[in-house]
Amino acid sequence: MSLTRRDFIGAGAAAAAGLAMARTASASALPDSPVGRRRGAAADNRPAVVSSANGIRGVAKAREMMLQNADPLDAAIAGVNITELDPTDHSVGLGGLPNEDGVVQLDASCMHGPTRRAGAVGAIEDIATPSLVAKAVMDYTDHIFLVGAGAKKFALEMGFKEQNLLTDEARQIWLKWKANHDPNDAWLDHDDDVKVQFTHGTINMNAVTAGGDIGSVTTTSGMSYKIPGRVGDSAIVGAGQYCDNDVGASGSTGRGEANIKIAGAFFVVEQMRNGASPEEACLRALQRAIQMTEARLVDERKRPRYDLTYYAIAKDGRYGSANIYSGLQFAVADARGARLEPCAYLFKESERPRGPVPMHALSR
Ligand code: ASP
Repeated sequence: MSLTRRDFIGAGAAAAAGLAMARTASASALPDSPVGRRRGAAADNRPAVVSSANGIRGVAKAREMMLQNADPLDAAIAGVNITELDPTDHSVGLGGLPNEDGVVQLDASCMHGPTRRAGAVGAIEDIATPSLVAKAVMDYTDHIFLVGAGAKKFALEMGFKEQNLLTDEARQIWLKWKANHDPNDAWLDHDDDVKVQFTHGTINMNAVTAGGDIGSVTTTSGMSYKIPGRVGDSAIVGAGQYCDNDVGASGSTGRGEANIKIAGAFFVVEQMRNGASPEEACLRALQRAIQMTEARLVDERKRPRYDLTYYAIAKDGRYGSANIYSGLQFAVADARGARLEPCAYLFKESERPRGPVPMHALSR
């Protein structure tokens, strides 16, 4: 019988509803499968970059920069800037979906492995590249985390340009949501072709140079239609991203509220420190997040009603990603070029609970 890596890991983990099987499956995938080759190949695939799927252009750019000796964090940030400035991506920066008041509030954080520094901004408005503001907090202040009006004031002082981030398209989607979400309010429903969308696709990017230096960054417009002032995991060092130059880096996309409670990116890096492969570490973090999920967000078999994905890279260039449900891809760039690969997963998409979902649980 021949099983694909996805079937093997997914079926194994689902059957066992635990990590033991996922781990065994990963280990037994060595040495013939692509996973095995990758793990065996380790050092010679650097510089290497891993990100959420919407970073496919960014990982290529980041690797290209590192081939020219760029710093890993500068390279990763240049990679995510592409998505932040893309008005058609409704989950990040310019064109991101707004909060319930129609205001785009952005979160970002970053870590620089070689100097062991970090920076972050939360609920910042009117600045398209919060990843760069987070880096400026890291580079130019004694602090790590600035939020709201203070973060914007700092950005303007640093020379960032103010701009309206709510594109016409995002505004139309928000209006549609506003009209539809409460049947008892005074907004009439319209039969137009604008679709209510919930964002999924915060961008996390983790990069390692040929010499093993590491950088990580995550940037997002956060959960669409969130309560004004809500800050998600992306802005939180240790949750949305984390980097330890001795070990590796990790980050996440998906339901921030599930990730924050387990300090997910830190958890993944610690798993790698203790010997787990990047992919195994991501699977373990998903298991931990599910263990920590409140009853209203899981069904009776503990299948979550939300999405959550981890991405990880090790100092030697190994990489991996895992999503709760099957079918998602992540982006990677290394000596074999830039490409999308399937995420490992815990459960098949067909096992996702059906029926009404709490409004903000799902981000896609
Ligand atoms: N993680 C982001 C947040 O919770 C949202 C997402 O990735 O979809 O703000």
